[in-house]
Amino acid sequence: MKMKMRPILLNVFSIVFFVCLALPNLNGQNTDSLSLVKESQHFAFYSTKADIGVLDSLAIILEKNYARITNRLGIEIDKKINVKVFPDVKSFHIAVNYPDSPDWVVGSCVGDELLMVSPLNPGSVHSYESLMQVVVHEFVHIAVYYTCGDKVLSALPKWLNEGYAQYEAGQLNDRVRKSVEASLRDKAPNWAQLNAASAMEFGHMNGYAISVSIVEFLVDTYGIDKLVLLIKAPDDLDTIYGFPENTLEEQWVRYVKHENTD
Ligand SMILES: [Zn+2]
Repeated sequence: MKMKMRPILLNVFSIVFFVCLALPNLNGQNTDSLSLVKESQHFAFYSTKADIGVLDSLAIILEKNYARITNRLGIEIDKKINVKVFPDVKSFHIAVNYPDSPDWVVGSCVGDELLMVSPLNPGSVHSYESLMQVVVHEFVHIAVYYTCGDKVLSALPKWLNEGYAQYEAGQLNDRVRKSVEASLRDKAPNWAQLNAASAMEFGHMNGYAISVSIVEFLVDTYGIDKLVLLIKAPDDLDTIYGFPENTLEEQWVRYVKHENTD
């Protein structure tokens, strides 16, 4: 019974997104149906007429989070970020060149452009509310890209990139924590396996939930400043934390299992 329930649970629990910037070049991206319809202080919004009504809400949540995230990372972004809102899941998948993606794929970013499904038509997995978090999640990826440059792809661990985006977007909740506990009772991937996974494999191995759990552990135990240092210099993990990665990994497992981390 337990085994039969598991795939369903994982599908529900895994609030998953593409790893941004790992997308292929979007030469095929079709945004013809979208027009520039709104600008806020730091963002320019493209959508169809049908989605104009949701852009004020997207602008408010992005602007509300903008200063905290850019200050935390110590960056200034010298241009407006384009936000492209696609009318439905299908048109978004076609635009990002993954036409056969499952419905949980709802947000992405390419360089400094943010692409997402309209919160007014979120598909079968997401909701209006979860897409309001997705837009912040994708903006965090863009801010990290401004912080690290191409190192995002070559050096930043996938769990750190995805975990930090979810952490700042407020996507960590008790449901996510419980799914991580369940993964650890079963056979959770280790950090190296998370980093080696493709975007799809990462989603299927509960990688998003596990990643934000790792980031929560690091912030709770060692503070946000060290996490920001790690984002800027992921190769210096041992120096920043004073332990090798496998020691931190063992501490994290005990943290999730509510065991003493001393
Ligand atoms: Zn992401």
